[in-house]
Amino acid sequence: LTSKNYNKVSEKTINELKTIVGDKNIIYLDQERLEPYSYDEGYKSNPGEHRKPEVVVMVNSKEEISEVMKLANREMIPVTPRGAGSGLTGGAVPVHGGIVLAFEKMNRIIELDRENLMVTVEPGVITNELNNLIAQEGLFFAGYPMSAETCFIGGNVAENAGGGRAIKYGVTARYVLGLEVVLPSGDIVNFGGKLLKNVTGYNLLQLIVGSEGTLGLVTKVTLKLLPLPKARSVMLVFFEDLESAIEAVPAMISELKTIPSSIEFMDKASIDATYSCLNEKIPCPGMEALLLIEVDGNDQDMVRQEALDIGDYLLDRGALDAIMAETPGEQEKLWKIRSYCPEALYEVSDYRISEDLVVPPSNIPEMVREINKLAEKYNVVGACMGHVGDGNVHAILYRKEGDTLDRWNTIHPELLADIYRATKKLGGTISGEHGVGSKRLQYLPLILSDVELELMRKIKDVFDPNHILNPGKIISLS
Ligand SMILES: Cc1cc2nc3c(=O)[nH]c(=O)nc-3n(C[C@H](O)[C@H](O)[C@H](O)COP(=O)(O)OP(=O)(O)OC[C@H]3O[C@@H](n4cnc5c(N)ncnc54)[C@H](O)[C@@H]3O)c2cc1C
Repeated sequence: LTSKNYNKVSEKTINELKTIVGDKNIIYLDQERLEPYSYDEGYKSNPGEHRKPEVVVMVNSKEEISEVMKLANREMIPVTPRGAGSGLTGGAVPVHGGIVLAFEKMNRIIELDRENLMVTVEPGVITNELNNLIAQEGLFFAGYPMSAETCFIGGNVAENAGGGRAIKYGVTARYVLGLEVVLPSGDIVNFGGKLLKNVTGYNLLQLIVGSEGTLGLVTKVTLKLLPLPKARSVMLVFFEDLESAIEAVPAMISELKTIPSSIEFMDKASIDATYSCLNEKIPCPGMEALLLIEVDGNDQDMVRQEALDIGDYLLDRGALDAIMAETPGEQEKLWKIRSYCPEALYEVSDYRISEDLVVPPSNIPEMVREINKLAEKYNVVGACMGHVGDGNVHAILYRKEGDTLDRWNTIHPELLADIYRATKKLGGTISGEHGVGSKRLQYLPLILSDVELELMRKIKDVFDPNHILNPGKIISLS
């Protein structure tokens, strides 16, 4: 599929769109206002990959969206849904131009159902705003990603986002009970509902979750909520090498019979970049890896004891030192080391590969070794961090200081393919939480079988026979 399959947005179409959503909800011809819709966080630093939409349509209701989709189908104009644009794979980038359908105005919390511990929201609600509000009721939505300050609930559903607490709480999908969806045809459907069990036919609800806005437009979400834990302890544990750090984790879980709410790791390159960017002294000289471990529960003494037991266990197994934080302020400081890490690496790397590999958790040391071997082979810098408990390795590779951009441009596609082949060999796959988007589309055949790809193409055809909705994402349809 190329942009040639689609029509340009005409003045007549603009007038029809104005009738549907009103003049003030259209951005057209104003290049300055269109520009922020031409990239997401993943593509922001690379202007070569920005693609401006012809028009941005800020929608307010499912009925408006339905009308827009009928118009787009009739006129053969591609439509790209956009949440907060915090995605890292180009999912919200209108690679074929056309309409960007922006959800920022659909940001109402429709109902907090205290009896059933559920909340129903529009897709443009910012994740942290929801959690801050329901925290006052002693509740939380547990499947949120680490970008919770900016990302929208609709974007999280579309990406099936997961975050730093997935080891204990799982990812977004676990909490999505009901969805209202506008299909590419303009039909409005409800999948699931306020139901904790539902095996009525194929699970279309969960097919939409993680479909990256390629099968339907999410206009309402019902989420399951959990009681907010009352107590929390956070620790940084320092190790001489990454292998000892990672290998200690499964042993700790099985011997102590504990599931912390977070187990995050950082390797030496990540540690050096982060402490240097934050202008802080490395707290344990000689460390080459660290684990951030968080334990939560309802009884402060029990949570504290559990954290102390974990700390003692890891120190017995060769950890160099540990720091524990109990007040929210101190805990935030420790979390900052991990959450600031990607940004710190981005600051030192203008052109980079930023990956989201996932392998069986016990294969993380081997995965990191493979990354380091490939970094050496291609003479680039490699850094790894991520969610140890989930086997999710965020690998960032970038050119060495003084190396030319030409060389980087020549080597990086092959480097990426080598990383993906190595991941597959270790029983892994190429995205644990950030998705495929347009960024990984061309590499999918390295990972999925022809049969799987064909099934996915057929599913897309059933939902969207004209390939109007978010073309150029997940699978190549041509
Ligand atoms: C600093 C940082 C940290 C991050 N940490 C994590 C993390 O821990 N875990 C994680 O999983 N991700 C993480 N991300 C990636 C990103 O934040 C998530 O993928 C997030 O869920 C995207 O939400 P969004 O609203 O920004 O969606 P967008 O980027 O706007 O869109 C993402 C995709 O969803 C589609 N979409 C958006 N809204 C709808 C809708 N209503 N209906 C249908 N399709 C829709 C878009 O077309 C696109 O394909 C991080 C990103 C940053 C910048």
